[in-house]
Amino acid sequence: MNIIIENGLICTATNHFVGDIVITGNTISAVTDPHTARQQVSGDYEIIDATGHYVVPGGIDPHTHFDLQQSSKHRACDDFLHGGIAAACGGTTTVIDHMAFGPAGCSLHHQFDVYRELAKDCPIDYSFHGVFQHVDDSILKEINELVTNEGFPSFKAYTTYGSPMHEPELFALLERLKECGGLLTVHAEDDTITNTLRNRLTKDELLPIGHALTRPNTAESISVNTVIGLAHVVGDAPVYLVHMSAHESLSEIRLARQEGQANIYAETCPQYLFLTDDKFKDGGPMEGIKYMLAPPLRKKEDQDALWQGLQDGTVQVVATDHCPFTIAEKQAYVNDFRNCPGGISGVEERMPLLFSEGVLKKKLTPEQFVQVTATNAARIFGIPNKGDIKVGYDADLVIFNPNEARTFQKDNLKTTCHYSAYEGMTVNATVAKVFLRGQLIAENNTFCGKKGYGQLLKRHIEAADK
Ligand SMILES: [Zn+2]
Repeated sequence: MNIIIENGLICTATNHFVGDIVITGNTISAVTDPHTARQQVSGDYEIIDATGHYVVPGGIDPHTHFDLQQSSKHRACDDFLHGGIAAACGGTTTVIDHMAFGPAGCSLHHQFDVYRELAKDCPIDYSFHGVFQHVDDSILKEINELVTNEGFPSFKAYTTYGSPMHEPELFALLERLKECGGLLTVHAEDDTITNTLRNRLTKDELLPIGHALTRPNTAESISVNTVIGLAHVVGDAPVYLVHMSAHESLSEIRLARQEGQANIYAETCPQYLFLTDDKFKDGGPMEGIKYMLAPPLRKKEDQDALWQGLQDGTVQVVATDHCPFTIAEKQAYVNDFRNCPGGISGVEERMPLLFSEGVLKKKLTPEQFVQVTATNAARIFGIPNKGDIKVGYDADLVIFNPNEARTFQKDNLKTTCHYSAYEGMTVNATVAKVFLRGQLIAENNTFCGKKGYGQLLKRHIEAADK
């Protein structure tokens, strides 16, 4: 049985036009002029009328933390099943999850084994980024095996938190990954600045806004600058900077790209595009603590710079950093934010928010929307046959209905944390249907896929043409 999505406004990474899409089995078998697919299909077909609706590639979110053990006390509340259901209902059909640290001194493979098990029930397609906790000869050796034979070409280094990677380690990792055809993703915040400022706080400064004050824009941009410089010295090694939030960081990235470092990639997240640090203060500390995440929410000028970055290509990807904890877990730290579990949800809200505020309000073209929600992540992280609407590609498709609005409420979202940073925001489009490899997995905000339907993707990064 074929499926024909008829007469929709088809949005690809390079074009948008009215037409039909034919799904045969798992893949897109034809893209035709409107109302012409019926004549071309041999065999049975089911028609889905997409008149007046947009059809876009299934979203790829390359930054989630499903089931993340963040500390001995706190584990992110959405596991791969529930996080995957939330993603599906929001039009995301693939995630690449950033894994938690394993036991001290463990091999690089250790967490991949743990995560293969954790993700078994995932209803959408998935992969993992590895994580570096220490660097020695055996870790450097393992990289090649993972990149070349196991299909895991991307890894993360943190420049702050429990296992910060300092310059010597970053240098070694960038060099090794470049040799092997891999990519380093970096959580860039300066460890000295954030720790020094945190340790100096008085009791009155431990309210949620203190979080923003101890992680100033410069803490991010100084670290971004270091990483870009090291990558340059290593021979323009590819680097992907996660969750960029500060306008100063974008200036560094823009300059590097202009000067020929085409392999420097930047990601931002909905929280930095749609929220500001007023959230830490408005409504008092019990409200403010719900927004604890790092880097912190920033100012309007940073928001404007991030939108500008999406428009001019300085920022290639909008991901979520989805990592929710319950309100009770957050509010236990209302008088001292420093031990509060960090992270919020967003995997269900990302695509509708960006479609409504970006495409419908004309801040992004449909092509830019497709690029930053799907195509660029597929290309940067080496996911074959996903992230665009092309014959032979996986039939991962989302139908947006722009004639229906939706207001995010804690009761109509699938995350198990039972609140949303975007509560009360209205989007002027709904996710009508979501297909993953030809299967309908969500319809009108109801999940209709299957537990465990998701496949672990084998990835391979094509060398960037320079
Ligand atoms: Zn993260």
